[in-house]
Amino acid sequence: MSDKKIYVVKPSLPDLNEYVEEIKDMWETGIMTHQGPKHNRLQQELKEMMDADNITLFANGHLALELGLEALGLEGEVITTPFTFGSTTQAILRNGLTPVYCDINPEDYTMDVDKIEDLITERTCAIVPVHVYGNICDVEKIDRIAKKHNLKVIYDGAHAFGETYKGKEVSSFGDMTMFSFHATKVLNTVEGGCIVYKDGALTQHLEGLRQFGQIVGTESTPYVGTNAKMTDMHAAMGLCNLRHFDEYIAKRKKVVERYRERLSRIEGIKLSIVQDDVKSNYAYFPAVFEEENTGINRETVMTELANNNIFARKYFYPLCSDFECCKEKGIKSEVPVAKYISERVLTLPCYSDLSLEDVDKICDVIESVYKK
Ligand SMILES: *Cc1c(COP(=O)(O)O)cnc(C)c1O
Repeated sequence: MSDKKIYVVKPSLPDLNEYVEEIKDMWETGIMTHQGPKHNRLQQELKEMMDADNITLFANGHLALELGLEALGLEGEVITTPFTFGSTTQAILRNGLTPVYCDINPEDYTMDVDKIEDLITERTCAIVPVHVYGNICDVEKIDRIAKKHNLKVIYDGAHAFGETYKGKEVSSFGDMTMFSFHATKVLNTVEGGCIVYKDGALTQHLEGLRQFGQIVGTESTPYVGTNAKMTDMHAAMGLCNLRHFDEYIAKRKKVVERYRERLSRIEGIKLSIVQDDVKSNYAYFPAVFEEENTGINRETVMTELANNNIFARKYFYPLCSDFECCKEKGIKSEVPVAKYISERVLTLPCYSDLSLEDVDKICDVIESVYKK
C-alpha cells in the first residue's frame, strides 16, 4: 500500500509563477482590495463569459447567497432542498426566513418539481433550489411555477459554474444564481463567490451590503451592511484559473467518464443519470450504495477505501432538515427520497489533477468489496 493519500477534492491551481506574475504589479500600485483592478477585471471576464446582465463578486459563495437573499427583501417561507451543503439553509435562516423542505428526485437529486406546489402557502416568497453536484434543476418547470405563484427564484449554483442547459448559461434562469469560488470548486479564487442577477437596480444595494452599508464612492450609508468584499489577491487567483478553466474541465470529464465506465456495471451501485441537455462541469462524482440487494453498504465501502488511503465523503449527510438549529425552530419535513439518498451516498475523489490510474485504483478497491 502506498502512503499517498487521495482526498475527495483538491484545488485546481495555476503554475505558481503565473500567479506571481499576476499579482506583481500590486506591489507597485498598493491596491489590494476595495474593487481594485483585479477585482474589476475578474468581474468583467465573468460577465462576458456568462453573458450576464449583472454580476457582483463576494468574499465567498455563502455571503453572496446570504446577501443576495437580503437584497431581494424577502419575508416568510422559502421552498428549498434539504440535500445540499449547510450553507443554503444557513443563508435562508440568517435572513429570518423559514426553510420549507421539498423532497428531491432519485435520478439526479435535484428538487422534485412535482412536489413544489403542494408546499406553497400564502407566506411563501421564494424558491431556493440547488444545482446539486452540478446536476441542473428542472429550470423550466421551476420558472413556470414561480411565474404562476409570483415567487422569486434564487439558485444555489455553487456546484454549477461553467454549465449550460440547452445551450443557455445556467445563470440565465431564475432571478439570481450564486456561484462559489471556494478552493474546492471547479473555478477557485481560494475563497470567493458571486451572484448573477437580472435586476440591475439591485447592484447598489448589493455593493452596499458587501461594504459596510455604504453607497460605494459616496459619503452615504443608507444600508445595514457587512464586509464581504472580494480582495484583489483572490481575484488574481480567479484570473489565472479562468485561463485554464477549459483544461480543468476536460481533465475532470476524463475522471468522471472512467468512473462511470468502471462503476456502472457493478450491481448495487446506482449512479446519477447523465443529463441530456446539460453541458456538465463534472464537479463531483456521487455514487449511491444500495445495500438492499447486495448486503454491502456505504460504511463498508468507505472503510475499505480509507484502509487504502482513499477518503470519500458523505456529501450530503445529514440532511439540512435534520440540523439541530432547524429542529429547535420546529421546522418539520417530509423528504423520504432525500433521506434514502443521504443515507447511501458517497462522493468519490474528483478533481482535475486526479490521474486515471488513481481512478482505476479507487474502482479496484470498490470492486474488491463486491467480490468478497
Ligand atoms: C460550497 C457551497 C456553498 C458555499 O460556498 P462558499 O464559497 O464555500 O462560501 C454553498 N452551497 C453549496 C451547495 C456549496 O457546495
